[in-house]
Amino acid sequence: MKRNRRVKILATLGPSSSDPAIIEKLHRAGADVFRINMSHTDHARLNALVEMIRGVEEKVGRPIGILADLQGPKLRVGTFAEDSAMLENGATFTLDSDTAAGDVTRVHLPHREILEALEPGHRLLVDDGKIRLRVTSCDKTHAVTVVEVGGKISNRKGVSVPDTEIPVGALTDKDRKDLDAALAAGADWIALSFIQRADDLAEVRKVTRGKAGIMAKIEKPQAIERLPEIIDLSDALMVARGDLGVEMPLEQVPGLQKQIVRACRRAGKPVVVATQMLESMITSPVPTRAEVSDVATAVFEGADAVMLSAESAAGKFPVEAVETMDRIACQVEQDPTYRGIIQAQRPEPEPTGSDAIAAAARQIAETLNLAAVVCYTTSGTTGFRAARERPAVPIIVISPVLSTARRLAIAWGLHCVVSDDARDESDMVNRACQISYQEELAKPGQRIITTAGVPFGTPGSTNMLRIAFVGSEGRGGI
Ligand code: PEP
Repeated sequence: MKRNRRVKILATLGPSSSDPAIIEKLHRAGADVFRINMSHTDHARLNALVEMIRGVEEKVGRPIGILADLQGPKLRVGTFAEDSAMLENGATFTLDSDTAAGDVTRVHLPHREILEALEPGHRLLVDDGKIRLRVTSCDKTHAVTVVEVGGKISNRKGVSVPDTEIPVGALTDKDRKDLDAALAAGADWIALSFIQRADDLAEVRKVTRGKAGIMAKIEKPQAIERLPEIIDLSDALMVARGDLGVEMPLEQVPGLQKQIVRACRRAGKPVVVATQMLESMITSPVPTRAEVSDVATAVFEGADAVMLSAESAAGKFPVEAVETMDRIACQVEQDPTYRGIIQAQRPEPEPTGSDAIAAAARQIAETLNLAAVVCYTTSGTTGFRAARERPAVPIIVISPVLSTARRLAIAWGLHCVVSDDARDESDMVNRACQISYQEELAKPGQRIITTAGVPFGTPGSTNMLRIAFVGSEGRGGI
């Protein structure tokens, strides 16, 4: 099965999409990678979902990526004697270390390290920013605040502290257990929530040790300030617009999205645009015009993937949401303005063999109007570098390693196929022609360009380009 678009679709699984039949429908409709949100998934469910996805993968014969999204240090207030309290504008409200039930004057904040880090002037945003408090005075156990925007605050509502650097890493005890479970289940990507600094990623890398790619979710101002180091130390990024839009002024999110997507494209790291892309489709079979435009903007910008959250996890129209995203992406990529916009942001190749080869392969393929660029890759690096070029022709990635093919499923334009490494030059050509033909990406009489590394079977050695004719029934020719 081939897709008629380059951008990939991530679909979050949840109550609306938890059996093999619906997962297969979502994949056939266009979902290339499935996201399992560990905030709402226990380990038994995680294992069951992974098993279902792998079952679909075997049935359809295409590698499918799995992203396990760790909850991270999500902050919440404690509970109230009457389950909630109504905070009036201008009132004084205290958050403290006292575990007693709260009322209209105070509530427990069960995060000692936050109380210790808050300073006068810092904001606390409660319930997705609906309530805004500002610290007027504080010590290690109390933060006295003025209510700037009031409202009803209830048990265990989420709190964001955009002005405060949280003096803990991005992994909670729950995350550590979830990370072990996700790696044991065979997740291809691990997403880290609320990271603030590059060190947060180093801790996870020690555990993953290459078994899964690490995706940094950008949702805090502290991460925006350190974007270059975070991009350097991660394998992919997510523009997590939900929390980013709470922690930063909403009107800054579109510009930040563009900056993050462009920085990731320059670095050649996959970037996912997430949250509320087709939000109204949680309850409606058709999206709003603004949502269509939002998905289109991410596709025009050259993001690697667009993501569905509640639309596919808990909505009434999960398959329709994936189909809608697929249709928007296909239409945008056929738009006469699309190529020019994509090319305008194409980064220069870095001075490495694999970048020089990827850039040359793209240029030759476009000059000669070839049917496809075919890359042999073991580790996946060559695949990511080929995607960074955003060529006008399809990219086929051939890997002998199933986990590499699954991981590459998230990257722009990569059609991944698992097949043995080439034995010699003629096997390389034959195999590339056969696969291009079988995958319906090249017809007899068309030409392809193949990149590979000699000596064959040596990871990290991409150093060769070869143009070949696809013969009848996909036989390789010179
Ligand atoms: C987000 O905040 O946009 C996001 C994707 O994270 P989560 O859904 O885990 O809160």
